[in-house]
Amino acid sequence: MVKKYTRSYAQEMDEQDELKQFRSEFYLKNESIYMDGNSLGLMSKRAENALHNIIDSWKKYGIDGWMEGDHPWYYLSERLGEKMSVLVGGKKDEVIATGSTTVNLHQLVSTFFQPEGKRTKILADALTFPSDIYALKAQLQLKGYDESHLVQVQSEDGNLLNEEHIIEAMTDDIALIVLPSVLYRSGQILDMERLTREAHKRNIKIGFDLCHSIGSIPHDLHKWGVDFAFWCTYKHLNGGPGSVAGLFLHEKHFGVAPGLAGWFSSAKDKQFDMEHTLTPANNAGAFQIGTPHLFSVAPLIGSLDLFHEAGIEKVRRKSLALTDYLMELIKYELDGHGVVICNPENHIQRGGHIYVEHPEAARICKALKMKKVIPDFRTPSGIRLAPVALYNTFEDVYDCVQIFKTIMEDELYKQFENVREVVS
Ligand SMILES: *Cc1c(COP(=O)(O)O)cnc(C)c1O
Repeated sequence: MVKKYTRSYAQEMDEQDELKQFRSEFYLKNESIYMDGNSLGLMSKRAENALHNIIDSWKKYGIDGWMEGDHPWYYLSERLGEKMSVLVGGKKDEVIATGSTTVNLHQLVSTFFQPEGKRTKILADALTFPSDIYALKAQLQLKGYDESHLVQVQSEDGNLLNEEHIIEAMTDDIALIVLPSVLYRSGQILDMERLTREAHKRNIKIGFDLCHSIGSIPHDLHKWGVDFAFWCTYKHLNGGPGSVAGLFLHEKHFGVAPGLAGWFSSAKDKQFDMEHTLTPANNAGAFQIGTPHLFSVAPLIGSLDLFHEAGIEKVRRKSLALTDYLMELIKYELDGHGVVICNPENHIQRGGHIYVEHPEAARICKALKMKKVIPDFRTPSGIRLAPVALYNTFEDVYDCVQIFKTIMEDELYKQFENVREVVS
């Protein structure tokens, strides 16, 4: 047999892995192969300790925890923003830890959607995550426009977007563009630099949803001139269920009044003056609204340290090697079983996960789970597999495909119904 397709090859790759020491930082699910880190990353010991540290600071300091302890609460959102700025290629004060993905989208669109004259529309795409579309429609409605003012660029094959089509849709009635950096289903990376340049040539502001790219691929948002971005921290960043999100505001917009203001939008030294006229922070912090959710932001203190130690370039390099290997094994071992790879295969366009389609996907996923492989199903026929650089191994990938093969050969999926679970 060709060496590549053997377990010993996978084990050799693990031996050479420059990030291998990070696996022991995580709580791996007992005996299972976790391939779902792009939906909910696993807990690390550092995240757990950081959460305990913040709980203890409440116990120990009461209200003085705002200014005392290892991580004074009053400045924690800014400090974590600094840590995340490295991952998005922003300056320190262009990033803040706050809110949730969807709330941050509302915040940013309520600020940057300023219809004027002919420019009254928002440009998005037909493949993005539903929450983004609900938020954009709601924002249009708040400004007195109906759904016809949301332009969604269509996909030809249902999985990928063509950047040419996006650029063609940047017409002179578009006021704002909101797109994903990586499509949640097919894992396609959009060329953010190019799209930003084209949008700005046409005087249109542009922002990106980084939910599926942060912690998985490097970004250079400041240099690219992206107007704003937002993301969650519970997927590749391993912040835990419902962990506090992040946003990026390009320095050129510092001083813009936030659409949704609150007292945490204040300049830090003015906030406790308690005036009824807001003095917004002169950085991304102005886009905070109220008191930070300390117990939901705490795990990030630990989990972001892991990214700093590993370095996002190395994370990306290993992620590509894992997904390359996964695709090779799928092609070799699952040949003839009707499993179609639908993510982009080239490195430039491929994000952190693999996306395959099969008509029996819902029950194949149930069979995978029965066999202790944790995938994620996307209706109607998609399976996402995300081998994560910080905690998955090449041997995990090898085992995952071997189990997948057994399920197909022995038709183990037939014992399940081909319908999705409530949460999938
Ligand atoms: C995960 C995800 C969300 C989730 O939004 P929340 O407000 O965090 O629940 C939104 N958009 C995209 C593209 C996502 O991948």
